[in-house]
Amino acid sequence: TELKNIRNFSIVAHIDHGKSTLADRLIQMTGTVAERDMKAQMLDAMDIERERGITIKANSVRIEYPAKDGETYILNLIDTPGHVDFAYEVSRSMQAVEGSLLVVDASQGVEAQTLANVYQAIDAGHEIVPVLNKVDLPAAEPERVKENIEDVIGIDASEAIPISAKTGLGIPEVLEAIVQKLPAPTGDRNAPLKAMLVDSWYDPYLGVVVMIRVMDGVIKKGDRIKMMQTGAVYGVDKLAVLKPKMVDIPELGPGEIGIWTGSIKQVRDTRVGDTITHEKKGTDKPLPGFKPAQPVVFCGLFPVDANDFEDLRDAIEKLALNDASFSYEMETSAALGFGFRMGFLGLLHLEVVRDRLEREYDLDLITTAPSVVFKIHLRDGEVRDLHNPADMPDLTLVEHIEEPRIKATIMVPDEYLGDVLKLCQDRRGVQLNLTYAGTRAMVEYDLPLAEVVFDFYDRLKSVTKGYASFDYQMLEYREDNLVKMSILVNEEPVDALSIMVHRDRAEARGRVMCEKLKDLIPRHMFKIPVQAAIGGRVIARETIAAMRKDVTAKCYGGDATRKRKLLDKQKAGKKKMRQFGKVEIPQEAFINALKMD
Ligand code: GDP
Ligand code: MG
Repeated sequence: TELKNIRNFSIVAHIDHGKSTLADRLIQMTGTVAERDMKAQMLDAMDIERERGITIKANSVRIEYPAKDGETYILNLIDTPGHVDFAYEVSRSMQAVEGSLLVVDASQGVEAQTLANVYQAIDAGHEIVPVLNKVDLPAAEPERVKENIEDVIGIDASEAIPISAKTGLGIPEVLEAIVQKLPAPTGDRNAPLKAMLVDSWYDPYLGVVVMIRVMDGVIKKGDRIKMMQTGAVYGVDKLAVLKPKMVDIPELGPGEIGIWTGSIKQVRDTRVGDTITHEKKGTDKPLPGFKPAQPVVFCGLFPVDANDFEDLRDAIEKLALNDASFSYEMETSAALGFGFRMGFLGLLHLEVVRDRLEREYDLDLITTAPSVVFKIHLRDGEVRDLHNPADMPDLTLVEHIEEPRIKATIMVPDEYLGDVLKLCQDRRGVQLNLTYAGTRAMVEYDLPLAEVVFDFYDRLKSVTKGYASFDYQMLEYREDNLVKMSILVNEEPVDALSIMVHRDRAEARGRVMCEKLKDLIPRHMFKIPVQAAIGGRVIARETIAAMRKDVTAKCYGGDATRKRKLLDKQKAGKKKMRQFGKVEIPQEAFINALKMD
């Protein structure tokens, strides 16, 4: 295809503003997929994505569109992940296209993720076509939202296209605008091959599938190609485009987007953002800006039933075939036995992976407190990355500790602003900026990531009745007065409950955790002290009173069926408990003890 007849674009939007629905309409109205094969949210493949209404992996579709000028155009849509955890993948897929449709819900206006995503598109040099979606809703205010886009984002919205992705209104105008307003790609067919690895995933039949955007040169079936980051060489066994089903194609030239396979064993062997070239006569200049995605949130995952450890290992290894962005290594906990320390791109990523392990592999898991990576500066000059509070070195060896800080952007109707400021303040935030667009406030905070990874989202949602939107980016590592707090149950430290906290907050956190554990741990035959300690010093304490009556006594004598029922109940309950010395701690205690409300 000639470059002038290609348009590559992505859709940027806040969650629920209609990105997937618009993609469906574009696919449907151009006849890319036969009507009988259409299903909602064509590009969101995984169940979990559909359930949560988020797009996790970038995916793409190639659309043929006969425009009003009489020419037929190839439109390549790359669907970027719509969540802050996947910011790096978003930024790479943005590099692979020249323009973006900016979708804003005309009944809502610009939200935090609209901003984060559109600025990534602007940074990538995109031409932006604003689209006002959901104009079929009675609450839609397209004129107000146009102004809102100009005020908050600072781009011209005078020609924003009013559409309804639901009814199909305005879709022909969107297709014309893609062709007329977005630039064609550039590239040199005769230069050495240079293609960007945009995404990769594991297909049970084909092995690893690699999605690329060709910048220069031509890739053909049968070529020997090299990944410049890893140096690995593969043959191109299959070359295809996604419509969105795979359709084989003999070659891909500059400006084109497609997929190839070549007996790559695992997704880990591919790096998003890597440059692909020919093994012989390849380019020696990789595309700029490659960096591997770094896990920022770590937690321990342990099987509730210690006998399930091997199953957990299998499951993690299988998942890892398809998701290169989490890290894992074996971990032993004095309290929880064998498990894994896992690193994720963010909290949502953690939840997604844990959900998949529990659901697809039918495992009952204990998740320990999510923690960020602290930088421990030792007196001897060594700097250590601390992924697990349990590995905190002896305090006498520590010079100082640094933690990651983020810049959070929160947009909220002004009646909830006070509560949002209080929440951020409580989480050791430093206010950076506060502006208004109409009755919505936009506030920026410098916050410790550690205070956000846990239940910040939930709290924010609840204090604003769901009206706030939130996004963040990494700022830097900064020193603060941080300490490790341990929790002792019945005088025994439970390593899975230890956390890093700010010294000034330690007493308050310790008290809350002890109070919660007091409620979460059932009574036993003896009384159980629950303590929070820093070093050897106890800073908070609660006691779980002993059980007054021996309930097991009920099991003796009496009706046999009743007895069996009670025993079954006990067994089911036990399954969800872990034994710590003489004390049984229920699974949910590990997460709930840490909630700060
Ligand atoms: P995404 O998160 O941006 O991909 O948003 P979706 O495409 O999943 O849409 C979110 C919700 O808004 C879904 O319930 C859609 O059915 C609905 N929706 C999308 N477009 C429209 C529209 O034009 N009008 C109305 N009334 N609802 C829409
Ligand atoms: Mg979606």
